Amino acid sequence: MSLIVLGTMAYDAIETPFGKTEKIVGGSATYVAYAASNFIKPVQQISIVGNDFDPTIIDDLNRRGVMTDGVERVPDKPSFFWSGRYHMDMNTRDTLVTDLNVLADFNPQVPDSYQGAEFLMLGNLMPKLQQQVIEQLKTRPKLIVLDTMNFWMEIAMDDLKQVLTMVDVLLVNDSEARQLSGEYSLVKAAKKVMEMGPKFLIIKKGEHGALLFHGNHVFFAPALPLEDVFDPTGAGDTFAGGFMGHLAKTGDISFNNMKTAIIVGSAMASFCVEKFGPERLQEITKKEIDERIQQFVNLVQFDIDLV
Ligand code: AMP
Repeated sequence: MSLIVLGTMAYDAIETPFGKTEKIVGGSATYVAYAASNFIKPVQQISIVGNDFDPTIIDDLNRRGVMTDGVERVPDKPSFFWSGRYHMDMNTRDTLVTDLNVLADFNPQVPDSYQGAEFLMLGNLMPKLQQQVIEQLKTRPKLIVLDTMNFWMEIAMDDLKQVLTMVDVLLVNDSEARQLSGEYSLVKAAKKVMEMGPKFLIIKKGEHGALLFHGNHVFFAPALPLEDVFDPTGAGDTFAGGFMGHLAKTGDISFNNMKTAIIVGSAMASFCVEKFGPERLQEITKKEIDERIQQFVNLVQFDIDLV
């Protein structure tokens, strides 16, 4: 099994009530690749970077089984740059800067060596580019998952609605689900979104976990209560990487296996927030991942005697 990941590889500057960073490595595809490569190899990356992108990050990803033949390097422009400030609850944030830079002329090309992949993760990016990658694949992957954000809903809603008709799973947070559907109730929002194309919808609720909708079924996965959250940036993409990584590893795309995949995604996201940027993801071990997943099992497992 192999997994294609499309998305940004970027620099971010992050402010939280507890600290601030200068430019650090980020990007939707960077986080997805770091998380997914713990479960599946190869991860086949499609992205674009500028002349400022640290080559040791590419080397590190390659060592983890991430192919970067589909990552274009532009010699005379800087990488995509995003800056955000988190509110006190660390669940909500304001975007301060979005500099497209190299992204403005991105024309993603699927290398021949990536054809035949069974799984496709369309990370947060212009909807038109997400569609372009689907259309270049000679065989439709077994599962196409799409992540997006309010930014694209505001400037490219029609393109987003078009690509939604082509995917199996949509991943958004609660406010994005509301924005996309025009419904406040997440149950009503889910019904409307599933009529737009995706048969599965995952709504991420930050520290309040994630919901998986499919037909009339709903499954809930909690987030691990953590003493300190340093930086939630990339948690959604890391979740996506864990989710996709588990599905690609097992090759099973049933609703039941997606429930497990959501727990795996939540466990990976819980690591991401423990340090700034992808730093924590660069150091975790298989043993730590297994222990963290077990903590999730313990968190929600209970016996009940009905009286
Ligand atoms: P997340 O916290 O999971 O929503 O993802 C944060 C990452 O998404 C950051 O590392 C940013 O570089 C990247 N990002 C922010 N805005 C955009 C955007 N409009 N399109 C693509 N990637 C973005």
